Amino acid sequence: MIDAELLQIFACPGCRGALELADPNLVAELNEQVKAKNLRTLNGSQVTESLEGGLICRNEKLFFGIFAGIPNLLLPEAIRVESPL
Ligand SMILES: [Zn+2]
Repeated sequence: MIDAELLQIFACPGCRGALELADPNLVAELNEQVKAKNLRTLNGSQVTESLEGGLICRNEKLFFGIFAGIPNLLLPEAIRVESPL
């Protein structure tokens, strides 16, 4: 998992703001949508891989998925979330 120190290295690629670890409940909720083939990224691609975790930009309500221990910080592949926490 990603620890707090490492987290400080990551900035949001959109607004350069701080990223926070996503709440496990939110990750679980999003994974339900992955299973239902109902989760899409900003560029419209379907998310097919289940999320291990995620980083959240509160400013822009964006979720960056963590896959195999590595956060995907590509803006087009972020997921819009209505209530990030
Ligand atoms: Zn941002």
